[in-house]
Amino acid sequence: MLRLPSFTYRQPKTLRDALAMKADAGPEGMYVAGGTDLYPNMKRRHQEPKTVISLMGVPELQAVGRSGGQAVGGIQIGTCITLTDLAARPAVRQSAYHAVAEAAALVSTPLLRNMGTLGGNLCLDTRCNYYNQSFEWRKAIDFCMKKDGAICWVAPSSPRCWAVSSSDVAPVMVAIGAEFVLVGPGGERVVPADRFYNNDGINYLTKQPDEILSAVRLPPPDGWDAVYHKLRRRGSFDFPVLGVAAWIRWEGRGTRDGGRVVEARIVLGGVASHPQEIGDAGAALVGSTLSDEAIAAAADAAFHPSKPMDNTDFDLSWRKQMTRVYVTRALEEVRLRRG
Ligand SMILES: Cc1cc2nc3c(=O)[nH]c(=O)nc-3n(C[C@H](O)[C@H](O)[C@H](O)COP(=O)(O)OP(=O)(O)OC[C@H]3O[C@@H](n4cnc5c(N)ncnc54)[C@H](O)[C@@H]3O)c2cc1C
Ligand code: SF4
Repeated sequence: MLRLPSFTYRQPKTLRDALAMKADAGPEGMYVAGGTDLYPNMKRRHQEPKTVISLMGVPELQAVGRSGGQAVGGIQIGTCITLTDLAARPAVRQSAYHAVAEAAALVSTPLLRNMGTLGGNLCLDTRCNYYNQSFEWRKAIDFCMKKDGAICWVAPSSPRCWAVSSSDVAPVMVAIGAEFVLVGPGGERVVPADRFYNNDGINYLTKQPDEILSAVRLPPPDGWDAVYHKLRRRGSFDFPVLGVAAWIRWEGRGTRDGGRVVEARIVLGGVASHPQEIGDAGAALVGSTLSDEAIAAAADAAFHPSKPMDNTDFDLSWRKQMTRVYVTRALEEVRLRRG
C-alpha cells in the first residue's frame, strides 16, 4: 500500500490568509483543492510538500456569477467548484458553454468528480508512463528528468521532458478563449487560457507556485459553438490519450441558410505537454459552411502536427491516426448542432 508522507495541513478561510500561509511555508508549501491529483502524487513522492494549504474553505473560490474584464457578458466561475457541480450547472450545461460541462463530465469517475475541482483540473500535473509509477518503480529505472533523475526515457537524447497534458477541461478553455484570473502576493492578473500553459512536461504552467488560480472567465456567448471529444481506453474511467476541442464562430443563421464560419479553433489534448492549438486546422474552416471537404481539410491539417509520444496508453501511430477521426467527428457534431 502506498502511504502519504506526514505533512502540515492548513485551512485558510480567505484568499489573503491562503497567500500568507504559502509565504510562511515557502517552496515546501503547496495548494490543494480536491486532492485527487496531488495526494496520489504525494504517495508516489512526485511532489513532497511539507505544508499543504487547502483552498476549499475560501468562499469566493466557489462563486459563480457574471464576468468582468474582456469577458464582460460571459460568466466567471470560481475554481474550487467541483467537476460534478460544474457539469450540472444549468448556466454551463444548457448554454453556449455546454462543451465545458461535457468535458468536466468526461473526467474519470463520479467519485473523483465529486472531489476534483475545476482549478485542480486546469493545473493537473503532466503524465507519462515512466513517471506515474511508485517511488520504488521509478527508483528501479534510476528515475527520470521530471523527478529525481537526469534522463528522459521516452526520448533519451532530449533535453526536455515530454510528459503529456492530460486535462479534459483545459483544451476546451483554450479553444473557447477563456481567461484565467490569478491572485498572488503582488495582486491579481488575468491571462488568456493558452498563455497559462507551456509546452514543457516539467514547467507546464506559466503560473508562479505562490499564485492561486482563483477564477475562470468564459467569454460572452455571441455566435459561437464548441464541442469536446475524448479518446481513452475505458469510457468510464481513464485519462484522455487524445482530446479534441473544436470552437466555431458563425456568421448568418443555419448552414442551410448560407451561414458561414468566420473564425475557428481546433485544440488537441493528450498529444503534447500543453493543450495544442492547430492553427491550420482552424484556418481550413474559415469561409466554409462546414462542408465535408472543409472538415476533411481541417482533419488533415490536425493530423500532421499531432505528434503523440510513446508515453501513454495505446500504440502511438494509431493515436495519431485517431486525430483525423476525432477532429472529423467533433466538427460533424458542430455542423449537426447548427442544423
Ligand atoms: C484514477 C484517476 C483518473 C483520472 N482521470 C482523469 C481524466 O479522465 N481526466 C482528467 O482531466 N483528470 C483525471 N484525473 C485527475 C484529477 O482527478 C482531475 O483532473 C481533477 O479535476 C483534479 O482536481 P483536484 O481539485 O482534485 O486537484 P488537486 O489534486 O487538488 O490539485 C492538482 C494540482 O493543482 C494545484 N491546484 C489545485 N487548485 C489550484 C488553484 N485553485 N490554484 C492553484 N493551484 C491549484 C495543486 O497544487 C496541484 O498541484 C484522474 C485522477 C485519478 C486518480
Ligand atoms: S517524458 Fe521523459 S522526462 Fe518526462 S516524465 Fe516521461 S520519461 Fe520522464
